[in-house]
Amino acid sequence: MQGRTCFRIFTFVALLVFLSALAASSGSVAAGGDGSEPLNVASVPVLNYHMVGDLNQALCISAANFEEQMKYLADNGYTTITPDQLLDHLKRGVPLPEKPVMITFDDGYVDNYRVAYPILRKYGHKAVFFLIAGYIDNDPRFMNWQQVKEMSNNGMIMQSHTVHHANLTKLSPEDALKELTESREIIEQEVGKPVRYLAYPTGATDKATVLLVRKAGYRGAFSVRFGEAGPDSNFYAIERIPLFRSSRTFRSFFLRLNAAPVLERFGLIR
Ligand SMILES: [Zn+2]
Repeated sequence: MQGRTCFRIFTFVALLVFLSALAASSGSVAAGGDGSEPLNVASVPVLNYHMVGDLNQALCISAANFEEQMKYLADNGYTTITPDQLLDHLKRGVPLPEKPVMITFDDGYVDNYRVAYPILRKYGHKAVFFLIAGYIDNDPRFMNWQQVKEMSNNGMIMQSHTVHHANLTKLSPEDALKELTESREIIEQEVGKPVRYLAYPTGATDKATVLLVRKAGYRGAFSVRFGEAGPDSNFYAIERIPLFRSSRTFRSFFLRLNAAPVLERFGLIR
């Protein structure tokens, strides 16, 4: 009985991977920016984490699970890319390395430094950390600037998640713009590198907010909409694949990584 269930799961996964490959091969050409040469744009999984550690909540995956996932990426030939590489590819078709993947963390929890960072280094991965600028140095649950700088100096990428984790769609345009520009300035000043990407707090955005994000000088922004970044992505609402704690975390990770387009198409994962 158990063998049979196992076989069914295997068949299901194999089917998803096959359909996923089919979906990837069919939708890979986007029109060029000026409407001339079509760009050859691939689909890229952008993984989204929050906390890594022992807290028993959905947003926190265990160190062992996180390591298993990072090892899987390393063992299977994935290359972690930067937001600049991703946007250069989506906007201008600049080629990416084989099997590109982007790893992102939202909020800037202190376990990102204590637990995730050593594991990322162990496997040679880089990751993007969207910081709540006003919480850094001001709340023990989050990193301090010294930790942020150390990570930045060792290849990790620090970007913005606003100053106060504000829902930008609920603020006045003036206040929203302030959240966007001040967080950029604070992080740029501390790490000495450009901040040109945003992750929307709670994922909330709308047309008016996107205009403000552009006005504040951002080159791209990430949503919490499930899916892969690809030829159809809006540069200011790029899809991501959230990773949560679950009873079968690795199976969920594998499915999300390998079959995202198909799962998305059939509404199987949100
Ligand atoms: Zn957040």
